[in-house]
Amino acid sequence: MAKVLVFIDNPGTSLKKSSLELLTLGRALGETAVALNGKLHDDVAAAFAEYGIGTVLLPSAEDLDDFLVAPKAAYLAAAAGQAGANIVLLDNSPEGKEIAARAGIRLNAGVITDVVAVDADGTAHKSVLAGSYNTACKAGTPVSVLTVKANNVVPVPAAAPAALETVTVDVPAVSAAARITAREQKVASGRPDLTDARIVVAGGRGLDGDFGPVEELADALGAAVGASRAATDAGWISHDAQVGQTGKTVSPQLYISAGISGAIQQKAGMQTAKVIVAVNKDAESPVFEIADFGIVGDLFDVLPQATAEIKKRKG
Ligand SMILES: Cc1cc2nc3c(=O)[nH]c(=O)nc-3n(C[C@H](O)[C@H](O)[C@H](O)COP(=O)(O)OP(=O)(O)OC[C@H]3O[C@@H](n4cnc5c(N)ncnc54)[C@H](O)[C@@H]3O)c2cc1C
Repeated sequence: MAKVLVFIDNPGTSLKKSSLELLTLGRALGETAVALNGKLHDDVAAAFAEYGIGTVLLPSAEDLDDFLVAPKAAYLAAAAGQAGANIVLLDNSPEGKEIAARAGIRLNAGVITDVVAVDADGTAHKSVLAGSYNTACKAGTPVSVLTVKANNVVPVPAAAPAALETVTVDVPAVSAAARITAREQKVASGRPDLTDARIVVAGGRGLDGDFGPVEELADALGAAVGASRAATDAGWISHDAQVGQTGKTVSPQLYISAGISGAIQQKAGMQTAKVIVAVNKDAESPVFEIADFGIVGDLFDVLPQATAEIKKRKG
């Protein structure tokens, strides 16, 4: 039976859905423990127990967040060694991937990123080349480190809650780690995080600078707002919202694309969405090749109608 370690970084007072997905996946693969960085809040401890986690490892040092990722990777590798883990799971964020890579070196482990599913024997499945192919790969090393894309596992609590114990892990000293000297709070949009969101409404050059219709539809659906590179490069919306090869990779249940042509670099970031709805005034636009539902029309007519209808139905 596999021994699985899930890395969770600074959850605050509640676990993100993507963390619950990792816990559910871990449990399906074997005996699962958590390596936590940050404070273990009571509500988070209760969620761990609910998801069948018996052991939470905590770092001996409290200053891991004062540095970039190197000390976190050192801690995770030490925690994996202490827990005897042969599968380490992390989220697929840029930071998760960097921690995975650094921990992988320390553990002499194979590292697989962009994973969408894992078989019982540790074989990882990936969606590659802009979602055109699915591949299966397995690390040939005793330990494998996998970063898993959000929204590919349905979070399910354990049949019976576990009794939780905490264990301290000595964090090895890391030299030359870049220290963080200042932090600036980002203004919260009140919308879900783009990479975690179940629904994404994304806009492109067709918006001609006005993201209003996209934002209104997103808010009616409780969705995150995404964008093509043309829209972010034009400065119409922050670069954080860019979806694609050089932006974020999203895998929501529903991706609504408005005024986006569907270039290969855009597809690379969203083609694994479960359902794709495209709104474009050009019936020949390549976006319709990957859309499950297509609407040929002016987004400034279509989106407000959809928003109004959704609001009406929600009462
Ligand atoms: C190395 C590299 C990396 C890249 N990385 C990314 C990336 O990460 N993400 C990304 O998105 N792109 C990326 N690109 C850019 C990519 O090639 C495209 O240029 C870009 O995606 C185009 O954005 P767009 O679809 O919004 O604009 P366009 O291709 O100009 O398409 C606009 C679309 O809007 C439609 N439209 C116009 N007006 C309306 C209207 N009123 N109603 C409905 N439809 C309308 C048009 O018919 C058209 O299909 C990258 C390119 C390179 C070379």
